[in-house]
Amino acid sequence: MTNGIIRKLDELGRICPPKEIRQATGLNTNMNLDLEIKDRVLRLTKGSGRHIDELGRYVIPKEIRRVNGWDTGQELEVYAEDGAICIRKPGCEWCTETENLVEVNNHTLCWECAGKVAERVMQG
Ligand SMILES: [Zn+2]
Repeated sequence: MTNGIIRKLDELGRICPPKEIRQATGLNTNMNLDLEIKDRVLRLTKGSGRHIDELGRYVIPKEIRRVNGWDTGQELEVYAEDGAICIRKPGCEWCTETENLVEVNNHTLCWECAGKVAERVMQG
């Protein structure tokens, strides 16, 4: 389980990756970034796309926010991995639970949601 730093999306869909994460990845203000989504994680790497502005903010494209259901104020976990800034919804992928989590094949569910899956499987 990666322990990132929680940041909230602002009203313009921007996220502000903490300075220590920008330093750890070498991705700094005014730098252009590429974006990819892998296993529900948004990964930002050096590239030719949108840039981090001079205050360290990055606009998450509207389409990506829409598909993921990330509205203004959505809490997102930000962490550094393999030179990329990674952003994901913290906690259970199905509900808002952030405690009592279980990870299976890179997916995070809470015990309650995982229990629903187990119940369904038992029913055959
Ligand atoms: Zn859940």
